[in-house]
Amino acid sequence: MDKKNLINHTISNVVDEEMQTLIKKELDRQRSQLILIASENFTSQEVIKTMGSVMTNKYAEGYPGDRYYEGCAIVDEIEELAINRCNKLFNSNYCNVQPHSGVQANTAVFLSILNCGDKILSMNLRDGGHLSHGHKQNLTGRYFDISTYSVDPETEVIDYENVRKLAKISKPKLIIAGASSYSRIIDYKKFREIADEVGAFLMADIAHVAGLIAGGVHPTSVGIADFTTATTHKTLRGPRGGLIISDKKYSGIINKSVFPGSQGGPLMHVIAAKAVCFKEALDPSFKEYAKKIVDNSKALCNFMKEKGYRIVSGGTDNHLFLVDLTNKGITGYEAAEVLASAGIILNKNVIPYDQLNPNITSGIRIGTPAVTTQGMGIEEMQKIADMIDYVIMHRNNTSAIAEVKNKVKDLVSQFPVYSN
Ligand SMILES: *Cc1c(COP(=O)(O)O)cnc(C)c1O
Repeated sequence: MDKKNLINHTISNVVDEEMQTLIKKELDRQRSQLILIASENFTSQEVIKTMGSVMTNKYAEGYPGDRYYEGCAIVDEIEELAINRCNKLFNSNYCNVQPHSGVQANTAVFLSILNCGDKILSMNLRDGGHLSHGHKQNLTGRYFDISTYSVDPETEVIDYENVRKLAKISKPKLIIAGASSYSRIIDYKKFREIADEVGAFLMADIAHVAGLIAGGVHPTSVGIADFTTATTHKTLRGPRGGLIISDKKYSGIINKSVFPGSQGGPLMHVIAAKAVCFKEALDPSFKEYAKKIVDNSKALCNFMKEKGYRIVSGGTDNHLFLVDLTNKGITGYEAAEVLASAGIILNKNVIPYDQLNPNITSGIRIGTPAVTTQGMGIEEMQKIADMIDYVIMHRNNTSAIAEVKNKVKDLVSQFPVYSN
């Protein structure tokens, strides 16, 4: 092999043209479609470059200053930089930045405090909870005894009195507060009171709202929950990955549960990119960004309401909302498919007390983190609501869909990503 190819980690000497073509195609897709998936974002060029660096070559099992491999002096500095920045960002005294993903972070917390058969009380999946909080195929559903709380059938908001009642009945060892498709503020203090009343640990899974918490537009769980788990790639806008925050007193059990408990070597290239993401999130401009995400979400939600769409819980406090399509005579599955054909990318989603199965669903989930990163504002939210409604109302009209697809391209071309 040409020596140049070995040492050159930019892509000027392309060997795998097949792959480069696919990556280019995906870049074009991300640039030409409207990304309304609530869990996606456009991370910075610097984060991407850092992930694609030589840091991927290093084995570093263990923790800074205590590794199982030689040659770790620099990765130690990198991981410490990530840890210090994360603690500063979330105002914490301990964090672990090694979890490969949000689910890995959750798994490590479970491993650190639970035994097989222990009880967990978590949010019902159908009402916004996450697979890793007790789905029967997930490790949680297989090894723990799960009970779930639902949202109030009328208000579609978490009923804390009901959570308290259920906690008193099931006496869980762990209560989980956190969701993937819940559009309202989560009151961690109320969860704390309930956990204390029944002697349970409290874990806040802030995977979705981590960036909103970092940006000061959602109350924090840090200092309230025993454990906070997060992803770094959703509203936090960093590389794909996870992290755990807790009080220092749990550092021993958490570190052990991440490595060697549930992972091997840390992804040093991703940890380096997490450090870059934390620096970006510490910049005052990130607060502005977080605020704009919520402003856009509220605006888009209201424009949809004006067009006669029923919004689950009547509105939103965060970066996402759920639309119940029942009165429009279309399922979530059908709506997501037809919108995708017009270049509007979002996902079908179950709504509270959904009568349809999770592959069909009565709703769609709409989120604004990505379009806000692109620089879109209220004016664009109006255009997006118009287009979504137009596609749904003309779903059998191929020329109407083609017309919207062009409008989408026109709109996103005014807010280019990765263009320099
Ligand atoms: C997205 C999400 C996760 C999972 O994160 P992955 O990085 O995909 O493993 C965990 N919990 C909640 C609440 C989420 O929304």
